[in-house]
Amino acid sequence: MRNIIRKYGDPILRKKCQLVEEVGSAERNLILRMFTIMREHEGIGLAAPQIGIERQIIVIDTGEELLDLINPQILEERGGDSLTEGCLSLPEIFIPVKRPARITVEGLDRYGKKVGVKAKGLLARVIQHEVDHLKGILIVDYANEKRMGKVDHLLNDLAHQSKMLIDIKNKSGRLNSTDRRDEKMGGQ
Ligand SMILES: [Zn+2]
Repeated sequence: MRNIIRKYGDPILRKKCQLVEEVGSAERNLILRMFTIMREHEGIGLAAPQIGIERQIIVIDTGEELLDLINPQILEERGGDSLTEGCLSLPEIFIPVKRPARITVEGLDRYGKKVGVKAKGLLARVIQHEVDHLKGILIVDYANEKRMGKVDHLLNDLAHQSKMLIDIKNKSGRLNSTDRRDEKMGGQ
């Protein structure tokens, strides 16, 4: 399996992602690639920064509902519940997160058309998790002190691995060429 998912400690996961100004074939291809990567890693949601792309794009497949959104904006939030969440960027770490139970989200579809989605249950939760990624927010930010104490050593390990990967990348032309491809896609 390709080890393409950026993990905790990679600075891109803390960046505020850029709005997508034009939606074209590059964005459609990126969305398809994101669906493939998400499924390869058995995820139910993926945000572009998790594969090193600083743009506001998310994809979701809860098993019941499929959704991809560009520049998603949560407009309404109602109710609230708590559920333990995981994240492809934080393997083996699970954090109970309180979130609004029902939301209305707006964004663009893969053809650049404005869409609005009313969501509840798991879909609402995954949308909020992925929108958080676009703002540089991770599930550990919701952890209380006790939970943080339990996952601290895992976070340190991940941060250490991410740092090593970045060091290797900086030294390796082969991996840099992959990054250049992503940057080019980001510029279109
Ligand atoms: Zn995540």
